[in-house]
Amino acid sequence: MQRDIYTADHEAFRDTVRTFLEKEVLPHHERWEREGVVSREVWRAAGRQGLLGLAVDPEYGGGGTDDFRYSAVLIEEFARAGASGLALSLHNDIVGPYLTRLATEEQRRRWLPGFTSGETVTAIAMTEPGAGSDLQGIRTTATDRGDHYLLNGAKTFISNGILADLVVVVARTTPEGGSSGQSLLVVERGMDGFQRGRNLDKIGQKAQDTAELFFDDVRVPKENLLGGEHQAFAALMANLAQERLAIAVGAAAAAEHVLGLTVAYVKEREAFGRPLARLQHIRFEIAEMATECAVTRSFVDRCVTEHGAGRLDAAHASMAKWWATELQKRVVDRCLQLHGGYGYMTEYRVARAFLDGRIQTIYGGTTEIMKEIIGRSVLG
Ligand SMILES: Cc1cc2nc3c(=O)[nH]c(=O)nc-3n(C[C@H](O)[C@H](O)[C@H](O)COP(=O)(O)OP(=O)(O)OC[C@H]3O[C@@H](n4cnc5c(N)ncnc54)[C@H](O)[C@@H]3O)c2cc1C
Repeated sequence: MQRDIYTADHEAFRDTVRTFLEKEVLPHHERWEREGVVSREVWRAAGRQGLLGLAVDPEYGGGGTDDFRYSAVLIEEFARAGASGLALSLHNDIVGPYLTRLATEEQRRRWLPGFTSGETVTAIAMTEPGAGSDLQGIRTTATDRGDHYLLNGAKTFISNGILADLVVVVARTTPEGGSSGQSLLVVERGMDGFQRGRNLDKIGQKAQDTAELFFDDVRVPKENLLGGEHQAFAALMANLAQERLAIAVGAAAAAEHVLGLTVAYVKEREAFGRPLARLQHIRFEIAEMATECAVTRSFVDRCVTEHGAGRLDAAHASMAKWWATELQKRVVDRCLQLHGGYGYMTEYRVARAFLDGRIQTIYGGTTEIMKEIIGRSVLG
């Protein structure tokens, strides 16, 4: 089916992203996978190419568009290329809104030029060793000391954790538990007491640096408070819809891409004297997956449109997230099976897609948490 959410301008942007991937990312990806981290230079190259801060005001070097479809194009192309190391969407679509919507004018002037040039890599640190799904259980504390907060605690599984120069940290600013006493503090590289732990050894996304972060009496100036004090939870809830949609867009594109590779494979691979594609079981498998991908695509595209119109609510973002990522998991697994033993070899794209994609149903809110959110919206 013809997709109707993109215009010629979006397609021209797609060409730019493809060229960037071919020139600046794919030739280096295997080395980055071995090293566990991408280069700082590729961030600067992304900045030069205009791929950072699409929604940031041009005054700070950004793209000046609030049209999420440009982000969707970027996410789709990265998913198709299997370029899982360079977390541009995390920077643009997940951290970006905190800096553009909550920052004061002074903070924007301080942080956004580096954000758009690629000099400043960003991360968001919510998850802790003892609290992931249950954000209300966060234990990191920021104690008010007049002109600064004293930050203490630990975060884990933080994407861009090694490279990040600015980390938006969710911390508790009142002694009481629950959601009402949390604030967002921007911790900067080099602050005393801010330490990075291990670059964690994951089963996939090997070029993406995912790290532990430790805060030991870090003096965070009050000028680095993002948004109002104790207001973090509302900000997190507002921004998580876009994060979940971004993940859904990538999941739908990854599933379609791996299915496309598998269609080519079963046409070419022979067994029992004819191509696999001539066997009815294989044909049914492909037919089912093509149907599921097409249905998913139409729902995700619709959510992109709704988001553009400011109407995407938490429940529908959650539907898109769990549905598309579970579809990706299922499709990639079945495609791997159709590749036989070759599917288990990491030199085949399907094997890497299997490993890289497995996280999708977990980060950004697990499938189970998505269903909780939807259940609350449907049942009250
Ligand atoms: C590669 C990677 C990158 C990540 N990047 C970031 C990042 O940049 N920033 C960040 O802050 N975090 C990040 N995370 C953390 C991620 O968001 C969490 O791992 C995720 O939210 C789940 O939290 P948890 O690991 O503590 O699991 P838990 O919350 O302990 O959940 C364990 C299991 O219990 C289930 N469960 C929990 N509560 C319920 C419930 N109420 N009902 C039913 N089932 C439930 C979960 O669905 C899951 O299956 C990343 C994680 C990974 C692995």
